[in-house]
Amino acid sequence: MLKAWLSRWQTWQADRRLARLSHITARRAIEDSLWQNTLAALPFVAGLPEQDLMRLRQLASLFLDSKEFSGAQGFRVTDAHAVMVAVQACLPILHIAPPCRPDLALALYDGFVGIVLHAGEVKARREWIDEDGIAHSGSELLTGEIVEGGPLMLAWSDVRAAGELAKKSYNVVIHEFIHVMDVRDGQADGCPPMASTQRRLWLATLQTEYEQFIEAAQAWQRFGKLSGESEPLIDPYGGESLCEFFAVSAEAYFVQRDRFAQAHPKLLEMFDGFFKKF
Ligand SMILES: [Zn+2]
Repeated sequence: MLKAWLSRWQTWQADRRLARLSHITARRAIEDSLWQNTLAALPFVAGLPEQDLMRLRQLASLFLDSKEFSGAQGFRVTDAHAVMVAVQACLPILHIAPPCRPDLALALYDGFVGIVLHAGEVKARREWIDEDGIAHSGSELLTGEIVEGGPLMLAWSDVRAAGELAKKSYNVVIHEFIHVMDVRDGQADGCPPMASTQRRLWLATLQTEYEQFIEAAQAWQRFGKLSGESEPLIDPYGGESLCEFFAVSAEAYFVQRDRFAQAHPKLLEMFDGFFKKF
């Protein structure tokens, strides 16, 4: 009796959730011409199977409903800007949860609401203390940044050029949203939220690949560059830390899948296990 009641209650809950999600999707629907223009600018998205594109469009609508966009220093954010960000941000979570639970996929981005767009790179002041305890200050140019609790900052110049920049396996939106996913469980360690046994395996594989990557990047700097060898697929910035290595590897995984598969088969298998679960 209790079992039957529980099952009826679960069905009722699932129906209610679906009704709420389809109401939001309809209210925040991405208009056809805007959707087509966005796809035209993002070849690595446009090539996805039709079914994935439909799912991505729905996910992007839900994403737009859950986030607040603003422009910095007079930059005016239009629907086209917001959709360009939403589509790229939703690519990593497209197959992370069952198709009927897009809310679970989006929960990975729950840690913040605000997204601030700047026209171009932002000069940020930095202060740090070196190994000898000496304080330094300076500035660095940023194209994206996350801070705990938000907002997330992005340079529109790089968001807009994502189609062209994909040739260099670069994608600022994916990079920052991978960081968001990484810190979702409170630890910025290069591993998205998962059970502890899987986490150990993930981090061990990532660490091995990270060390090989640093060696290969150094060898390329010393010899390969001079002899005209093509640049490594993953951005050398990945050598900064395991977190950055995760973020830049994921950029290559999502925008240059074929080349990534050739160069990093172990990472491909591990990423597929997490990002392509459903
Ligand atoms: Zn980063």
